[in-house]
Amino acid sequence: MRILSIFNKKDEQFLRQKTAEVINPQDPAIRELIDTMRNVMEKNQGVGLAANQIGKPWRIFVAEYQNQSFAFINPKIIKHSRKVNLAEEGCLSVPRIVGVVPRYDKIVIEGRDLNNKKFKIKASGMLARIFQHETDHLDGILFIDKAKELYQVKSSKND
Ligand SMILES: [Zn+2]
Repeated sequence: MRILSIFNKKDEQFLRQKTAEVINPQDPAIRELIDTMRNVMEKNQGVGLAANQIGKPWRIFVAEYQNQSFAFINPKIIKHSRKVNLAEEGCLSVPRIVGVVPRYDKIVIEGRDLNNKKFKIKASGMLARIFQHETDHLDGILFIDKAKELYQVKSSKND
């Protein structure tokens, strides 16, 4: 499956659109989509992937951090710290570019699982950063929009 890139005009247009809430998380097609997203993320050594990065207009992202796997349907950040951290980020949809991006140090994020059950996760540091990056994707926002500085690199760590 192809990952959309901002260096393609049509792809960028799609990536800049806000995704739609999933009405029925129990739909088998949603499970299939999440499986596909996990595979694409792993194949590309990403730490997160939003559905619109593979051309699907739904409010879903997956993430992987320290051997923990996450899947959020209809995610929403409901709380965040005042404290902000700066760190480097990259993105599978923005190849060969990294940037220093401010993100909240701590967040509380809620979402739905495949059984349409609501769950909440408290995250800090790198995991909070990944969740903020992916939630932004679903709102049509890219890390380059928020980056203080951007650099070109030969190959980047992706998320
Ligand atoms: Zn990204």
